[in-house]
Amino acid sequence: MPELPEVEVTRLSFASAIAGARVLSARSGKPLRWPLGLAVQALAGRTVLGVRRRGKYLLMDLDQGLLLLHLGMSGSLSFGAPGGLPGVHDHFDLQTSQGLLRLHDPRRFGAVVYANSEQDPIAQKLLGHLGVEPLEDSFEPDVFWRGLKKRQAPIKQVLLAGELVVGVGNIYASEALFLAGIRPTTRAAKISQARALRLHQAIRQVLARAVAQGGSSLRDFSNAQGQNGYFQLEAMVYDRAGEPCRVCASTVKRIVQGQRSSFFCPACQKP
Ligand SMILES: [Zn+2]
Repeated sequence: MPELPEVEVTRLSFASAIAGARVLSARSGKPLRWPLGLAVQALAGRTVLGVRRRGKYLLMDLDQGLLLLHLGMSGSLSFGAPGGLPGVHDHFDLQTSQGLLRLHDPRRFGAVVYANSEQDPIAQKLLGHLGVEPLEDSFEPDVFWRGLKKRQAPIKQVLLAGELVVGVGNIYASEALFLAGIRPTTRAAKISQARALRLHQAIRQVLARAVAQGGSSLRDFSNAQGQNGYFQLEAMVYDRAGEPCRVCASTVKRIVQGQRSSFFCPACQKP
């Protein structure tokens, strides 16, 4: 499923190309996770001002209102010259003066939601509870450590919950914990300040590296220009169960936490 780096890579791949475009027409296909919230034709005539990101949402600012786009489990956006007719899994099209933006989403857990502003109740419902952004200055190491101290759950699940910091999903949580030398099962409250600082740094490092590598294309992720990402090729532990650790050659282990796979090196990562 697309995580924060894939969403950011998607944003970078079309934000400047679509900025300033006028919406000529819009079309929605089968229902997505949430309804659009206005008649799709009402988007025609509006101008795209730019595209921002908050957590795993893309916020497309229009001259009137904004669209919140989420890629769900299997969504991807493409932007370019108008292609053919929409395929069976293409559930939202924005035909603009600068190209066609199309959401392809076979499993339909993605969404395109219209809001009059970020203060709109629907925007607040989707964005209001999100933790701080990991790549911004608001993600402070000391605040992060104090947040960990209050939580008894295993660190991996605390990261996935997104309350202390947003957007550290399954792949990048496993990778950041490896870099920080912390077992995914370690109780968050048990982590010392020094280790919390290492983890804070590792989270930033892993996410920035993933964005630079174009994200991870584990199944079928590609950016809005159709390019794949390469981060998965350099993953230290994620999806490498049974293979030798790239640092110490011990066998990488896989366990299940909260119905999600966690990968770790039993020698490099301490409880
Ligand atoms: Zn190792």
